[in-house]
Formats: sequence, structure tokens, C-alpha cells
Amino acid sequence: MELCTYKINITGTVQGVGFRPFIYTLAQRYLLTGTVSNNSSGVEIIINSDVLTLKQFLIAIEYEYPLLAKIDTIEHKEIEYKTFDSFEIIKTQSKGNVVVNIPPDVSICKECEKELLDPKNRRYGYPFINCTHCGVRYSIIYNLPYDRKQTSMKTFKMCKTCELEYNNPLDRRYHAQPIGCYDCGPKLKLMDNLGKLINTKNEVDKTVKLLQEGKILALKGVGGYHLICDASNENSIQELRTRKKRETKPFAVMVSDMKMARELAIISKQEEKLLLSKERPIVIVKKKNKHSNIIAPNISYIGLFLPYTPLHLLLLKKLKSPIVATSANVTDEPICTNIESLEKLQGIYDYVLDHNRDIINGCDDSVFMVVKEKEVAIRRSRGYAPIRVTLPFFLKNNVLALGANQKSTIAIGFDNQVILSPHIGDLHSISSVEYYEKNIETLERIYNFKAKVIAYDKHPNYESTKIANKIINTNKDIIAKKVQHHYAHILAVMAEKNIKSKVFGVAFDGTGYGDDGMLWGGEFMVCDFEDYKRIASLEYFKLLGGAKAIKEPRRVALSILFSLYGKDVFNLDNPTTRAFSSVELRVYYTAWEKGLNSPLSSSVGRLFDAVASLLGICQVVSFEGESGMLLEELFDSSVIGYYPFNYENEKIDILPILPLLLKEKDISIAVSKFFYTLVEVIVKVYEPYDLPLVLSGGVFQNRVLLGLVLDRFPNAIISNAIPPNDGGIALGQVMATLRK
Ligand code: ZN
Ligand code: ZN
Ligand code: FE
Repeated sequence: MELCTYKINITGTVQGVGFRPFIYTLAQRYLLTGTVSNNSSGVEIIINSDVLTLKQFLIAIEYEYPLLAKIDTIEHKEIEYKTFDSFEIIKTQSKGNVVVNIPPDVSICKECEKELLDPKNRRYGYPFINCTHCGVRYSIIYNLPYDRKQTSMKTFKMCKTCELEYNNPLDRRYHAQPIGCYDCGPKLKLMDNLGKLINTKNEVDKTVKLLQEGKILALKGVGGYHLICDASNENSIQELRTRKKRETKPFAVMVSDMKMARELAIISKQEEKLLLSKERPIVIVKKKNKHSNIIAPNISYIGLFLPYTPLHLLLLKKLKSPIVATSANVTDEPICTNIESLEKLQGIYDYVLDHNRDIINGCDDSVFMVVKEKEVAIRRSRGYAPIRVTLPFFLKNNVLALGANQKSTIAIGFDNQVILSPHIGDLHSISSVEYYEKNIETLERIYNFKAKVIAYDKHPNYESTKIANKIINTNKDIIAKKVQHHYAHILAVMAEKNIKSKVFGVAFDGTGYGDDGMLWGGEFMVCDFEDYKRIASLEYFKLLGGAKAIKEPRRVALSILFSLYGKDVFNLDNPTTRAFSSVELRVYYTAWEKGLNSPLSSSVGRLFDAVASLLGICQVVSFEGESGMLLEELFDSSVIGYYPFNYENEKIDILPILPLLLKEKDISIAVSKFFYTLVEVIVKVYEPYDLPLVLSGGVFQNRVLLGLVLDRFPNAIISNAIPPNDGGIALGQVMATLRK
């Protein structure tokens, strides 16, 4: 058959994942000559081939590509005839507009694990072993294209042996940028909390010993430091809680393997798959013994994850006990990524197991749960970030979307692509805002990106809005687009699921700024990419004390009681009124009546708070979402019935159910009927519409509510890859710029 020259272009996650050596090996198999190289849009192959072999070659690429790769497109065309002597991997082509994917950080692969534990291997016990199929990527990258000199590995000079592996296309470590060994790679360093070096032959063994003694350690991982202690030692955990001033918020636990995981929790097939996936997220699973420990007090679920680096693996294997592993950060500040930022936590840890490979891009652990066999992302970061989403439409302009104020993420959009940053966190401190701005710079730098449109939340006081205003004021040409919070929530799901049609969106949320300036959060809207219409919402109630009401469920309950009973509240005796002194009740009544610092809200999240307060479950929360979690615990699926509510003039008045809750003989009956009432509200409002039902907003992280809604509407659409909480807002904001 006639030989022609073909050029094949492949886009997707195809760099830093062993793609070129894979192509090299395939070319040997099909006896092809030509070249393969990386360029700014992915991988380019030029081959001499007949048509039939070309077809087989393309099929082999699509079916056999490397573990970590992800092919978005593969295109070929005939070009002018050239001859080649052999097949070669050639140097990276010059840089244009970068559209290649940054590979995420993934867990240690099976082959590296085998070598790690093999006493005869030269990397036996080496805590930084990796290859093209595993290890750090995103967290060590300064810039693209992904080459060693563009990563924090640039300061390590390869030894001869590593260099041979690195340059051999048939080696598993061919162009594995973070390659290293005992002779040339990163090294561990164990110190006390004053930075004094601990002399030891083996840092891992010494760390195990310290953990067994009950010590708290800071451990440098992939995207930042963890605080760790022995999870079987209640005193250590209590000490960690005390030092971190973290009263009840659950801790995540790392277990060495599935066997250890099963000792602690009941794990479904799907949860197991997530736990074992190469991304190794934290998965929230059902505890075996509900009240067995103080890791997650009063909650019957626990966040588990498996070791994802060789270092974690060695530690867990030697310790033979699970460890508590929580992100090392000062409250409201981003995760610590270097020893300088960690110093602020000196009073919390006793020792630090550090190493000298710098973390360039911080990222937290990712968190998932499974509800009714659907995966729900709570936080998407390590292992996934940065995330690429292909939109159902092309964008006219480059868009920078700034997200919300909590669980912040940012996004850049170009063509029909959106790149979503990892979880950045809440913008409640100066250092978190700095970290947020650094993330914007990072995405802009790596993707060589310049925004024409800036999309941001309508809330005037969000830090992200302030940053938007700063950008707008210093850049005359930029187009500003404010996006309503809950519309963005629904759009995020539509973007992920590639839905182009009209949908019926239900956004149950904490709070978001509404078009009328009120704090929305119980919204029903019909929308598509062009526009949205608010069909119905919860009746407004006042948030007594504004932001304070978010931390104090009793304030929300009291406000609703005032609206139902006025001054008669002074004579009521229930858990909410008992949570205030009589003087406070009078002061708050005046504030409520005059509307002093009492914005109106339709938030379902706050309604959960009110119910929790009124039933005496929780008056002041110690972490976000606590009241909802405690309500979940009281749900009893054997209860039937719901409370009546009023729905007219686009308003759902559910507030009068509050006194009914108090009449039940058992609070779990009240809680269960409250959950069913919310489901009935959706049923009622959705009834006249023949549109797909889309659910979003932070409240849908509530396992019970989401489960009940999915029972009732098995076809309801939720996002799986993008969190339903404010972590998804930036993606929705990009989509909103298509609006006319
Ligand atoms: Zn490997
Ligand atoms: Zn070496
Ligand atoms: Fe929200």
C-alpha cells in the first residue's frame, strides 16, 4: 500500500503522563517511522504510514493510552510527504496559546509500591519514589510545558542512574519529571516544633515511634501539611482538639488499606472504588460504631482515605494503626505549604516531618460522598485539580470567574473550555485573600490567559467582588458581568452535565445575594443559559444580627418566633427562648421589630438552623453545616407524614410549621416530618413543569434531604464532579456570560 505522511494531533491530559513513550512503543509495534513531540495544545505525531496501519495505530492509541492520560480530541490529516530513518521523540515545540491540561497529583502506582517495599530495589523505602504513572504533578508546577526545569524539582540534579532511566523511552520513568532516588532526590527532615533537627537514621521509624507515644506531628504531604496523630489514641485526639480549638468538627482519618477501613466503617462497592481510585479522596462513610470515638462526635459518618504518597504508605504500614490527618492551617487561613507558614502552628504540633521538595501550588484533600449510588463532590482539590470542563457552547470572549466568598474557587474560560482552580477556601482573612489572588495569577500564568470578561457574584461585600472591582477599575477594556448566586449554582450543574435545554432548578443554600438585595437560599427557578426566572421561594424571615445569625441558630429561630407570636414570645418556654436571658429577649425583640441589622432571608440552610434550635439540638454552631448534620442523625425513615404549608403568590410559607414541631412527642418525629415537608415543597412547586429537575446549593450536601429528593425524583440531576456548594459557583459564572 502507498505510504503517506500523516500528522496526528491529540489534546487532553497528554503531557507528563508517559504519552510520548507510549506512542514511541506503539510506533515500534507498527514499524512506523516519524516523530512525536509535545506542543502547547497537546501531543503532535508525524508518521509515515499506509492508510490501514494508520487506522490500527489510531485505534491502539484510543484503547491503550496510559493510565493517567485523558484524551479529549484526536485528529489526523495528510501532510506533504517526508521520509524518516526511525521513530523519534523530539523536543517540545514552541509555546503558543496553552490549551494543554495540567496533570493532577495522583497516588502511588502498584509498580512503585512494589519497588518501595522490595528490599532488593535501589529505591526500597525511598519516600519520594514515583514514575510517569504516579506521583506529584500540579502541586510542583511553576509553568507549562511540563518539564523538570519548570517544577520545584529543578533544584535537584539527577544522578547518573536516574538520568539513564529518565532518558530511556522504554523505561517506566522516561521523562518522569519528579524522578529521584536516595542519591539525588528530595530528603526527609525531622524537627521539633522549634526547628531543631532530630538526629535519627530513619525519619519514618522515628515518626512512627513519636506517634505511638501520642505526639502530634505536622507532616508535609502533596499539597500542604497535615496535622497527624494516632487515631486509636483518644488522648492525642483530644489534645489536638484542644490545641487547635476545634471542639467537635469531624477529623478525617487515614487508614493503611481497605481492611483497616472496614474495621472502622461500613463501605459500599462504590465507596470502595472511590477510596481506591488513583485520586484517593476522603470519602465520607458510615461509622461502624456510632459513639465509639471523638474523631467525629455525635455524627455517625466518618471521612476516610487511603495513603496516597509513598511516605504515607510507609508510615501507615509501620504504625499498623489509623491516623487522624487534618489540613494544617490557622482557622480561616489557607493550608500551610511551607515551613515558614507552618510556624504559626508551633503550639499545635510537637514535631514536624518535613522535606525539601517545595510545594508550588497548594491543594487540600478532596472530599466525596455517595448518596443513592450517586457521587457527590464536597470538595474537589488534590488528585483532580485543576479541573477541565467542556461546555455545551463556545464562549465569545475569555472569561475570568471569581466564584463566591466561601469554599472559593476561580475559573478561566476560553473557547468551549473551563479550567476550575482547586478549592481555595473561605475568604475570611487577609492571607486567604492573598492565596486566592495567587491562584488567579497561577492560572493566568500557566494558561497564558488574559481575561476580556470578568464574572463575579452580586454580593457587594464579598471579597471576590472587591477584587473584581479592583480589576475593573484598573482595566478599562474589561467587560464586567455580575451573576446572581443561585442562578450560578444551577448553571454549574448544567455546564457539568452538558445540558442545553431549559431546566427547573432548585437551589437550597446557605445564603446568596438576591436580585432584590435580600439573602436568598430557598429558590426555585426556570432557567437556561440565556436567562432565569424566579418561580418561587421561601417566605422571608429576618436574620437577627446579620452574620451572627449564621453562627447562632437560636437567633434565626427566635426571629421566626417573633414573626409568629410578636411580644408573646416573652412568655414562651422552649429550647430557643431558654437559650436567651429575658433581657436579651427584649433587646432582640426591639432589634427585630425595627429591623436593626436584620436582613431578610429565604435560606433553607438557615431554616435547618431554626429547626435545630427550636428542638434543642443546637443553639450555637461550632462549624458550618453542623446543625444539618445533627438533624440527619435524628431522621427516622419509619416516620410518615409532613407538615402543611402555604404556597401562593410565588411564596412558600413554611414558617408556621415551627410550633408544630414542638408538639411532637419525640424530636426525631419532628425532624423526620420536617425533612418530608421540604420534599413536599419541591413536589408542589415543580408539579406544573415538564422540565428536567436540577438540584444545587450547599444544602444538598445533606445526605438525608438529597436521598429523599432522589427517592421521590430518581431522574433529578445533581452535579457529581463539581461540588453543589459554593465551590461550583465559578463554573456557573463562566456559563452566565453567554447570557444576552
Ligand atoms: Zn509509579
Ligand atoms: Zn538518582
Ligand atoms: Fe451558595
